[in-house]
Amino acid sequence: MIDTSVFQDKKAVFYTLGCKLNFSETSTIGKMLKEVGVRTVRKGEKADICVVNTCSVTEVADKKCRQAIHRLVKNHPDAFVVVTGCYAQLKPEQVASIEGVDVVLGAEQKGDLMKYLGDLQKHDKGEAVTSAFKDIRSFAPSCSRGDRTRYFLKVQDGCDYFCSYCTIPFARGRSRNGRIADLVEQAYQVAAEGGKEIVITGVNIGDFGKSTGETFFDLIKELDKVEGIERYRISSIEPNLLTDEIIEFVAQSRAFMPHFHIPLQSGCDEVLKLMRRRYDTALFAHKIKKIKEVMPHAFIGVDVIVGTRGETEEHFNTTYEFLKGLDVTQLHVFSYSERPGTQALKIDYIVSPEEKHRRSQLLLNLSEEKTHAFYASHIGKEALVLMEKSKIGKPMHGFTADYVRVELERNDSWDNQLLNVRMGEFNEDGTALKGSIIS
Ligand code: SF4
Repeated sequence: MIDTSVFQDKKAVFYTLGCKLNFSETSTIGKMLKEVGVRTVRKGEKADICVVNTCSVTEVADKKCRQAIHRLVKNHPDAFVVVTGCYAQLKPEQVASIEGVDVVLGAEQKGDLMKYLGDLQKHDKGEAVTSAFKDIRSFAPSCSRGDRTRYFLKVQDGCDYFCSYCTIPFARGRSRNGRIADLVEQAYQVAAEGGKEIVITGVNIGDFGKSTGETFFDLIKELDKVEGIERYRISSIEPNLLTDEIIEFVAQSRAFMPHFHIPLQSGCDEVLKLMRRRYDTALFAHKIKKIKEVMPHAFIGVDVIVGTRGETEEHFNTTYEFLKGLDVTQLHVFSYSERPGTQALKIDYIVSPEEKHRRSQLLLNLSEEKTHAFYASHIGKEALVLMEKSKIGKPMHGFTADYVRVELERNDSWDNQLLNVRMGEFNEDGTALKGSIIS
């Protein structure tokens, strides 16, 4: 039994780096602490507990984590410091040796964080508690409200794919998931709090069901029935797991939006092989065609990595031409970053930082052209826009079903409301279309 009396009236500070999943998990840790009487520090206050949820997607991310820990230890010198997340799992000893760190928790221990806070007495030396990645099996449920109106519901964690450039399977463990019945329950909870939009998140969500014998298709069919939730978005799904059945369901569903985020990573089959991805460009092109056949206005975001080991200029040109001819809306471009322990390090051919930058710029320009054309095709049309809170003195923004950002004059009563809007020209900085309410 944990003696929760030690937590009464204590104050905590949270720091999260990385993906939406991390933010969602930190928010769950925050809720756990709140239940035992810990509140978040206010500006200028010193914390009793520091929780740092780390990322390790690149070397830069590792560095940012170390800097954040140093800063928090300096600003909150008496706080009990817990570090968790991907960097903590991958380099526990390195993190534990940072001055001021008390406990480092791996992916398996993250959900049990309360147990490791003990009586909040600072340790003489950082202690690391982690499990080997193949033993990471527990699923820590998590659903949090983002900084805007939408909620992030974690449905799955971990990955069994072992792409050659990726450390996520080592940092988050094997693929596992929540039970559909529990996740539907969480969606009802969001609706009860007034939430209208849920983004379904995970590491490899199409792989949903490994630990419960269910499927992702079953999950979305059940979530679609939850009254009060007007919109679902599927965060990112591997192309080989985005079945035609799922695409057809989304097209005729009540609440799943015509919005997809699909990692391509390379538009050259040879590079896809080097990356150990589980599809080729023909499959990818089929998925895009299928989506556009049944949802012509769907927004499709695509992840691409430039400069992976082995990607020659010719390979990159193939990727560029493939993407140019593909009916997608936006490219999320990442520069390859070497990660220790990955298979990709065995590939000899290395792309220079300058060349990575050049390739990245070319794809970013292509992305801008595609997004601009997609937005422009909406000018003069009507759509339902879910409005989001704005800062005082700033205009309000919201998104259409197919993820076009729309700008309106600020009106507090519109926050979290679905409004019928006519879309006009681009706004000043070109990041949204100006909207006018249709009465
Ligand atoms: S699918 Fe590949 S890139 Fe994505 S998390 Fe799994 S191993 Fe990493």
